[in-house]
Amino acid sequence: MSTNLLTVAYIAASALFILSLGGLSNQESARKGNIFGIAGMTIAFVATALSPLVTGYTTLAATIIPGAIIGAILASRVAMTSMPELVAILHSFVGLAAVLVGIGNYLQPESGLVGAEATIHEIEIFIGVFIGAVTFTGSIIAFGKLRAILSSKPLMLPARHFLNIAMLVATVWLGVQFMGTENGLQPLLIMTGIACVLGVHLVMAIGGADMPVVISMLNSYSGWAAAAAGFMLSNDLLIITGALVGSSGAILSYIMCKAMNRSFISVILGGFGEGAGAPSGGGVQIEGEAKPTTVEGTVELLLNAKSVIITPGYGMAVAQAQHGVSEITKILRDRGVNVRFGIHPVAGRLPGHMNVLLAEANVPYDIVLEMDEINEDFPETDVVLVIGANDTVNPSAMEDPSSPIAGMPVLEVWKAKDVVVMKRSMASGYAGVENPLFYKENTQMLFGDARKNIDAILGQLLTQDEAGEKVLVGAK
Ligand code: NDP
Repeated sequence: MSTNLLTVAYIAASALFILSLGGLSNQESARKGNIFGIAGMTIAFVATALSPLVTGYTTLAATIIPGAIIGAILASRVAMTSMPELVAILHSFVGLAAVLVGIGNYLQPESGLVGAEATIHEIEIFIGVFIGAVTFTGSIIAFGKLRAILSSKPLMLPARHFLNIAMLVATVWLGVQFMGTENGLQPLLIMTGIACVLGVHLVMAIGGADMPVVISMLNSYSGWAAAAAGFMLSNDLLIITGALVGSSGAILSYIMCKAMNRSFISVILGGFGEGAGAPSGGGVQIEGEAKPTTVEGTVELLLNAKSVIITPGYGMAVAQAQHGVSEITKILRDRGVNVRFGIHPVAGRLPGHMNVLLAEANVPYDIVLEMDEINEDFPETDVVLVIGANDTVNPSAMEDPSSPIAGMPVLEVWKAKDVVVMKRSMASGYAGVENPLFYKENTQMLFGDARKNIDAILGQLLTQDEAGEKVLVGAK
């Protein structure tokens, strides 16, 4: 393929990536956005493989074919609830790739680079390897935390801020050594080791409910690592793609921080969610008793309600209850009940988790509302069904300044007339914080697997409908 054709292909791929991001920003156009992304990636891959720079087709095939097969099998098997772990481990691959590209590039430098050009290239390598190494180990730790191999509790080493600063200072000093010598491999490798430790330390220090920000932050890092690899390889498309991923990840991190009322810097520096994972997780001790209810009791509440808000959380994803929830929504709406969904920005285990599940179950988009859009409507709502959500509906975030999640905006479900919380036990959620909602006067607990209970509610509603139809037919 000629260089001109390659440039045209790269421009087309870049445009498709931008269209893809635009499409993904809205549920209705997300499918189209995905198709644009796939088309862009196919063009990018084919054009690069056919470019004059690529000659070793046997090596390319030997690495890409098994990689594609393993990737396809793993991705098709992964459960929706394990998606964040998959994303985290994929980020680590991007980081590792940037490290290997950087070291490889240093060992076999591009010929003909002299003076300022050579210096810039060395800086690209050093920064690229640094970002790649932090992303690599940080993503592995995030993977471990999300998979519960590692505790979600933040690791609070004494003088941890000093440790981070010391590692950054050492990195800068090694950078100076790297630039000032003919044989810079040693400082480069030592810096790689330090950056790997820094990645581990940064993510280990983040705990509890701050993990969503870590994932989007590592997403951003992986983008910058890819952009750095693009600079090292003089590949414009990789630079553009990396910058798109890097900046969209940074914007997402900002949105997540805003949704959780957290400052980006304090999340990165860690320590939030201290004590998370412990049974009480800080905050004041809650007194009182939770009131259990039954499927029959819940059905009765629903049948007498004029307005219902459903607030799903991670438990709905685990139980895979979304299809039953969608059916219940349809029946209630057919009966004239105003049913809507309230979605917290960090509900579930990945950004947009609940929206994806509800879209998969064909819940109409227009009744799925963001937290900000629905929070004011709870006082006028008859029944709120909390399905497997916990941290995102925890009033202690607003009522208890000593709570580890104090200040995080939550869905104010307790303001409704009646609240039914569906979960299996009194256990805490991801942040490990006790939830006073369960003990409120107007809250009833429907214990058990969300899917079993949703199916039972659905069964009773269908029986009611059939009985109603029989009465109507009899009347005719
Ligand atoms: P939580 O993790 O707070 O709570 C989920 C609840 O679901 C648990 O308390 C659990 O209680 C219940 N549950 C689990 N399995 C079932 C089941 N089969 N049937 C019924 N209930 C079940 O969920 P939220 O969605 O409210 O909050 C998300 C949390 O995850 C936040 O802390 C957020 O910061 C964090 N997080 C979010 C990410 C994101 O990007 N969205 C990424 C990483 C973390 P029980 O065991 O009693 O059933």
